[in-house]
Amino acid sequence: MTGYLTVAGLGPGPKAQITPEVTEALARATDIVGYGPYVARVQAAPDAVRHASDNRVEMERARHALALAATGRRVVVVSSGDPGVFAMAAAVFEALESTPAPDVEIAVLPGITAMLAVAARIGAPLGHDFCAINLSDNLKPWPLIERRLRLAAEADFAMGFYNPRSRARPHQFARALDILRAACGPARPIVFARVVGGPDEAITITDLGTATPGMADMRTLVIVGSSTTRRVGRWLYTPRSAE
Ligand code: SAH
Repeated sequence: MTGYLTVAGLGPGPKAQITPEVTEALARATDIVGYGPYVARVQAAPDAVRHASDNRVEMERARHALALAATGRRVVVVSSGDPGVFAMAAAVFEALESTPAPDVEIAVLPGITAMLAVAARIGAPLGHDFCAINLSDNLKPWPLIERRLRLAAEADFAMGFYNPRSRARPHQFARALDILRAACGPARPIVFARVVGGPDEAITITDLGTATPGMADMRTLVIVGSSTTRRVGRWLYTPRSAE
């Protein structure tokens, strides 16, 4: 019996930023799998089974979803933002690698990732070349993060930082800011966007010289501009051409 495993992105928060194809997949799901708060808030059929799990058990969750789908169910795994950006889609394929599931049809439905939602809110800071870096060292060593920070700054990308700071690792973001200040100088624009799209949204645009580690937490997306990123009125943008 064919089962279905759909990995869907819920966008940054507002209902209007969930794509119609994700809404449709949720309405048809027999099972919703994901991090507790997301699973609780999605709109699904009344008889859909909601499987909520902790944020840090991604591989377990992916294997569980695959096993459910293999029994012929229509499973939707939900992620915030886009499921392919530091989220569940890669975990599902990793699970598939170790446990082939020939009778499961897999689909990945994109969502608006936090970095793009934040960029749109403040103008066009990603108007030229940019990169995204996850600052959490849960799944990679910290020295690798430092190296990528340095090289990205040197290559003059605008940069988006996910998972900038948590209670478990409060000091690393201070180190990241030091590296960026040394590479980009104190005048470089930096944006702290907390819970973009939510009722408590808070966005601060400042510069590296003024930025402090306490401006970020786990619900904040940080953007650092390139050397050409600049203000126009209340907006921040990066011109499409570079010298
Ligand atoms: N798949 C998600 C990212 C998951 S990693 C996406 O594509 O957006 C979790 C990190 O995403 C958080 O630590 C934060 O840096 C960022 N994030 C997710 N939603 C956000 C929001 N609404 N506002 C600000 N940052 C957000």
